[in-house]
Amino acid sequence: MPHANNALPASLHIVTPLLRSTSFSARLGRSVWFKMEALQPPGSFKARGIGHACQTYKEWGAKRLVCSSGGNAGIAVAYSGRLLGVPVTVVVPETTSAAARERIAAEGAELVVYGRAWSEANDHALSLMRPEYAFIHPFDDPLLWEGHATMIDEVAAAGVKPGAVVLSVGGGGLLCGVLAGLERNGWHDVPVIAAETVGADSYAASLAAGAQVELPAITSIATSLGARSPCAKALEWSKVHSIVSEVVTDKEAVGACLRFLAEHRIVVEPACGAALAALERKPAAVTAASDVLVIVCGGAGATAEQLQAWDRGA
Ligand SMILES: *Cc1c(COP(=O)(O)O)cnc(C)c1O
Repeated sequence: MPHANNALPASLHIVTPLLRSTSFSARLGRSVWFKMEALQPPGSFKARGIGHACQTYKEWGAKRLVCSSGGNAGIAVAYSGRLLGVPVTVVVPETTSAAARERIAAEGAELVVYGRAWSEANDHALSLMRPEYAFIHPFDDPLLWEGHATMIDEVAAAGVKPGAVVLSVGGGGLLCGVLAGLERNGWHDVPVIAAETVGADSYAASLAAGAQVELPAITSIATSLGARSPCAKALEWSKVHSIVSEVVTDKEAVGACLRFLAEHRIVVEPACGAALAALERKPAAVTAASDVLVIVCGGAGATAEQLQAWDRGA
């Protein structure tokens, strides 16, 4: 049974802590607030949007949830399906790590390994679709954005209005959710710093071009940011809200993860380290704010040992 009392909570994600970091605040010379999405049970903020999408598709009659991510999206779909009592199929390529496969299987999902690259796994997942199934996209679905937006509602409810928000961008689902949250709380004037790593910087490239750009390949270790092109909605937001791009190196992202681990004792992926590293660069939008909100998006795909190995250049 997913829950002892057999009753489902209103939402599948948890309300996360909002921490004012003493060490980061002292170093940055302003209040640095961490929204601790790393503490969501499946390990990342994806619990919010994917939880909301899975719950909605179940209400609409979905008999199975299908997804093609071996990363945090796959884990969040598997987790959500287990809580909802809806079967889940996750199709991953052969390159998906044993640790990720185990995590998905441990949530009770059916794991299918297919193809050498994600695109082949995704095509296979689509071929498994039936009219009564729901396909869960990792970032490009308004239901996801609606779910992610709840993290900003929680910050508003805590009585903290940031002067800037720093977050990581992969396909832009988190960005679209945070912007929806800022807008619905009346925070139209709060700029967003969109962090990526070199080699996964499809949003920076798209902003510069003024249109969706597709990268030829992803070369960053921050694989959770590895969308070759961002969703269209992420580009649309940049026309109506102040969004500043900040591209950091893998080394900066890993260094920021290690500093966060040392100071806050929590492991996060380089995908999340990108936002922490962008903060450390003190872009103008950060230095203009007395309170800065950083979305600590988390990620289940890293260990302390691996962060140290990356840092040594292994
Ligand atoms: C998915 C993910 C991202 C990127 O989110 P998008 O919605 O694709 O922009 C960043 N960090 C972590 C840990 C993730 O799992």
